[in-house]
Amino acid sequence: MQFIDLATQQQKIKQTMEANIHTVLEHGKYIMGPEVKALEDKLGAHVGVKHAVGCASGTDALLVALMAYGVGPGDAIFTSPFTFVATAEVISLVGATPVFVDIDKTTFNLVPKKLEAAIEAAANQDPSLHPLPQKALALRPKGIIGVDLFGLPADYDTINAMAKKHGLFVIEDAAQSFGAVHEGKKACSLANVGCTSFFPAKPLGGYGDGGMCFTDDGALADSMRSLRIHGKGSDKYDNVRVGLNSRLDTLQAAILLAKFDIFPKEMDLRQEVAQRYTEILASNPALIVPEIPAGYVSAWAQYSVMAQSEEHRKACQDALKAEGIPTAIYYPIPLHLQKAFADLGYTEGDFPMSEACSRRIFSLPMHPYLEKADQERIGDVLQKVAGY
Ligand SMILES: *Cc1c(COP(=O)(O)O)cnc(C)c1O
Repeated sequence: MQFIDLATQQQKIKQTMEANIHTVLEHGKYIMGPEVKALEDKLGAHVGVKHAVGCASGTDALLVALMAYGVGPGDAIFTSPFTFVATAEVISLVGATPVFVDIDKTTFNLVPKKLEAAIEAAANQDPSLHPLPQKALALRPKGIIGVDLFGLPADYDTINAMAKKHGLFVIEDAAQSFGAVHEGKKACSLANVGCTSFFPAKPLGGYGDGGMCFTDDGALADSMRSLRIHGKGSDKYDNVRVGLNSRLDTLQAAILLAKFDIFPKEMDLRQEVAQRYTEILASNPALIVPEIPAGYVSAWAQYSVMAQSEEHRKACQDALKAEGIPTAIYYPIPLHLQKAFADLGYTEGDFPMSEACSRRIFSLPMHPYLEKADQERIGDVLQKVAGY
């Protein structure tokens, strides 16, 4: 059994994809060819925003967005410590400081109340209100990066209102949630700018790295288009700001155009697979299955369950492994305890829910083509693991 089955998907789109690739080989515009614009138009319309800007990866999408907002040294950016390293890495890369905010135990996303406390703590330089990085005593609250973990959008209604009150911008890290919906609005459109990733394992994955920024803000989109090509002005040799080489490859866009044809159908299949897991695992009292709040549709990048303890998780993973069933842990170490962020001075106990999740969570195989029989087998194996 595979954790993610990209081969079955390839069979379904092979013809279109090969034709698309062939077209690129024919016209030879490997850099910023017409497929890039075609994909931006298509995905922008799907998400429901005015501007879509392709770039080289999901990480770069976040970086380009932060750079477009002029984020730099002295700025505090609030985000979750329970995410892929890229979310916080880009904050440090531009010289700003990540201020972490703990997650909710059901959604694994930022708790707005704690976010409010963190903003107040940073603004008033008062670490008694919320754990702050050591350097935080001279920080300016500047923006928030909400993370849509495992495909479920964060609570942007509350986050955006809070941002407005404090004069902050909001970036949606939608690397895992392309295809998700909240109250009829698509992921990537839920904040000032949405950033997604086309890493092969993401809901809309290519055959290499890629990413995209989405926004209704025309000035911001112009800055991002400039930043991804060396801060270009009227052309590449007119440089109006310091930027990056972060274009989306034409070939990658051609592949993604073929993949996007079947994406809506795949999203439906993901809902079915997730629902089946939840039904199958409902009879297992030792596991907590994901719960999607009313009004939300997850993109189900991952189906992650909580074991009772670290030992119980290990027993579950070992039992599945013995049956040839792969699992994964997202994420084994929360970012505030990673060596890369040691200079922030956070300590164990600062974000208890993120720490508990990192000890107890694990993800099961998840993709649109996962079969019921395989899911039942997973359920049977897990049922036989003793509780702890
Ligand atoms: C994958 C991921 C990224 C980075 O995307 P890349 O395309 O791999 O650079 C950022 N944030 C989150 C939450 C992710 O899962």
